[in-house]
Amino acid sequence: MATIFQRIIDKEIPANIVFEDDLCLAFHDVAPQAPTHVLVIPKKPLPNLAAAKADDQALLGHLLLVAKQIADQLGLSNGYRTVINCGKDGGQSVDHLHIHVLGGRALHWPPG
Ligand code: 5GP
Repeated sequence: MATIFQRIIDKEIPANIVFEDDLCLAFHDVAPQAPTHVLVIPKKPLPNLAAAKADDQALLGHLLLVAKQIADQLGLSNGYRTVINCGKDGGQSVDHLHIHVLGGRALHWPPG
């Protein structure tokens, strides 16, 4: 069954999209954990970082550069955090690789 993110890529369900190109899509998280909370996802259906292969090197680099571009675009000049939750212990809830971009407030460390 298609994940919710695949359905967003396919435009079957709406999202507040901030960036799109041939390789990826970025949109606001539906349950933001910070004033700015955007998800950057590949259009390729990679379930998580653990499933990435050497072939995905350029794609992974692209996603990170898009995350940085979005942080700039959304004015996160004070800094921001990128997070990739992976698997059960990583707290991943949607099985489609995504980078969280969080900013707009001071974020604590370590995470819970
Ligand atoms: P994870 O817990 O897998 O790292 O992150 C999944 C994220 O997807 C969560 O922050 C959650 O709020 C977000 N999310 C889940 N369903 C939807 C949706 O339908 N639309 C959007 N925009 N975000 C979603």
